[in-house]
Amino acid sequence: MKIDHKKLVTRIPGTGDFIKINNEKCTLCDRCLLICVMNLWKKRESTIYIVDDYVSHCLECGACYQVCESDAIEFRFPAGGTGIVYEQG
Ligand code: SF4
Ligand code: SF4
Repeated sequence: MKIDHKKLVTRIPGTGDFIKINNEKCTLCDRCLLICVMNLWKKRESTIYIVDDYVSHCLECGACYQVCESDAIEFRFPAGGTGIVYEQG
């Protein structure tokens, strides 16, 4: 049976946005798309973006931030500390 990894986490409400992309710095290298195990980064034509509901699924691993050599991704841990709860892990 496959695990539906999108259901592995539930975010504590009220943590707000904690990832932003600066598209002017982005070089479209695709590293964030490749590294994110939750598949939250997308590319449309020549724009990279993170899905609208990323707050509900992000694992707060910071990998996208780490691999972005252009400093195009801003990442901070959510307000109040880590906001995910592992329900089945
Ligand atoms: S890793 Fe950074 S530069 Fe590369 S596509 Fe993602 S945001 Fe753009
Ligand atoms: S912090 Fe991790 S899970 Fe969240 S968007 Fe970045 S790579 Fe994906």
